[in-house]
Order: sequence, then structure tokens, then C-alpha cells
Amino acid sequence: MTGQVAVVGSANIDLVVPVDHHPVPGETVLGGTLRRSPGGKGANQAVAAARAGQADTSFVAALGRDEHADILLRSLDDAGVRTDVVRRTDSPTGTALITVSADGENAIVVAPGANADLGAPEGEARDRVAQADVVLAQLEIPLDAVLGAARARRSGALLVLNAAPPAELTAEVWDAVDVLVVNEHEARALAGSEHDDARAAADDLTARVGTVVLTLGAAGCVVLQHDADPVTVAAPTVSAVDTTGAGDTFCGVLAAALAQGAGTVPAARRAVAAGALAVTRHGAQEAVPDAAAVTRLVR
Ligand code: ATP
Repeated sequence: MTGQVAVVGSANIDLVVPVDHHPVPGETVLGGTLRRSPGGKGANQAVAAARAGQADTSFVAALGRDEHADILLRSLDDAGVRTDVVRRTDSPTGTALITVSADGENAIVVAPGANADLGAPEGEARDRVAQADVVLAQLEIPLDAVLGAARARRSGALLVLNAAPPAELTAEVWDAVDVLVVNEHEARALAGSEHDDARAAADDLTARVGTVVLTLGAAGCVVLQHDADPVTVAAPTVSAVDTTGAGDTFCGVLAAALAQGAGTVPAARRAVAAGALAVTRHGAQEAVPDAAAVTRLVR
């Protein structure tokens, strides 16, 4: 069974420049060679769902009519993502301006551009969402787009929300979410300031959402459900070279496995393995492993 996933989300071109140090206000620094790479949480997750998760994946997004859109579409197409319902708008394609200092610290400015034009899915995009077994969304797009996708779902389809970056959610969005995926910072931000402990924060979130998946970096993840004991899924030990996109690979593979009928814990096992493989390679979409490598690591 293939399983259908509709990823409703952002696409950005990452413009990355290495620098000795980040400029302070008013300062100009000369950097190294500019690298352009396809990114954005939505596009990264769609690539992961299709390539590492082998789901029939459609990307519901908005891009500009520029060269950056072409780079993004090529990467999505190469991974086997269906891009026919991607909207093109007059805004520039979303762009992330990233400087990476010698000590590996990133400074990032995102210009959302066309991502901000995405609204509730309409026409064929709406139909595609309605066919999906799993709708996977993040928060780099307007909340209306997330809500519209939630409403367009067929009954029985799951809404998986990766609450990144963390934002205030409306009651209707909270009620619509079946599986919430958060890292430790996002768990604390969503639960409110009273928790230093991400695990306690995630536990609180199970009062609002049936299933919370808390990702823990090198420690894997924990699956929390209000009516069951938490289940920790350890990550294999790997030699990490670049953690960019690990969380996105995790989300895409989790959604793909759920769409194929896996339970939450087996789906989380595949997602943890895929995330671990992603950190052994540089880049975001370039680092997404293929499905066979994920399967080898899960066994
Ligand atoms: P990022 O923002 O770097 O993409 P994130 O903060 O959203 O990631 P993490 O919890 O850091 O999410 O990582 C997501 C998943 O990636 C983890 O659950 C794990 O499976 C895998 N992972 C991340 N870092 C490591 C690591 N050092 N070793 C093994 N697996 C890792």
C-alpha cells in the first residue's frame, strides 16, 4: 500500500554564505562562496515523505515565477513529489538568507514571499487534500492555509502538525490536530512558560491533542498519548555532520508511514532512523536518505 500524503507548507531557497563572524548592525563582512539550496520546512518534508517514506506525496504550496521556484520544483520532482497543484504567484519565492560562522552558528532571516500568499486550498489542490490519508502541515505558512487543509480533509484522514516555528494556534486548529510533532523548544513554547522540562510540557499538550511526538535530537523521540504510557524510541548512534533538516526528514517519514497504515510507534521508529541518517549528510533535501537505507536501520 502506498498511502497518500498531502504536505501543505512552505518552500524557500536557502542562500547560504560562510562568514568568519556574523555582522553586527552597521557592519559589512566579506563572506565565502554563496551556496543556493532548496529548503523550507514544507518542501523538505515533502521530499522526505516521497523519497524516504515512499508515499504518494503531493505538495500544496505557493511559489513565485522566478528562477528560485525552478530550483525548488526540480528538487521536488527529482524526489518524486507531485507538484502539479503548486500555485505560482507574483510574489518572489520564499527566501532564507543564512550566514554560517566559523563556529557553525547560523544567523537566518526568512523573507516568506509567496509562502505568505498561500490560503485555504482551492480547486484541484483542495481535491488532492481531500484524497490524502495524511495531511502534513507546519507553521511557516498562514494559519488559514492549515485550517483550510484541515477542513478539506476526508473523514478518517489524519492531520499531522509540525508546530514549527511555534505560533499561537486557534481552538479550531487545536481541535483538528491528530498528531502534533514538536522538538523540545517548540514543546515548551506551545505549552507556555511554566515548564523548563520539555517532556513535562509535551505531556501537558496531550490534554489538547491525542498524540504528541516529542523529538529529542540524538536521543530519538518520545510518543505521548493521554490514554497510554509514553514510549521512547532511541536513535541509533551516528556520526553527525549537519543536523539541518533532521526534524523535517523525521516529519515527512512519520507522515508517510502513518499514511501507509503504520501505528504511531512503528511510524516513529522509521522517522527516528530517517532523521539519524539525515544528520550524517550535509544539506536539507540533499540529506534525505532513500527508503531502503531507512528500512535497513529500522531492522
Ligand atoms: P532540526 O531543526 O535540526 O532539523 P529539530 O530540532 O526539529 O531538528 P531534533 O529533535 O533535533 O529536531 O531531531 C529530529 C530527529 O532527527 C530526532 O528525533 C532523531 O531521530 C534525528 N537526530 C537528530 N540529531 C541526531 C543525532 N545527533 N544523532 C542521531 N539522530 C539524530
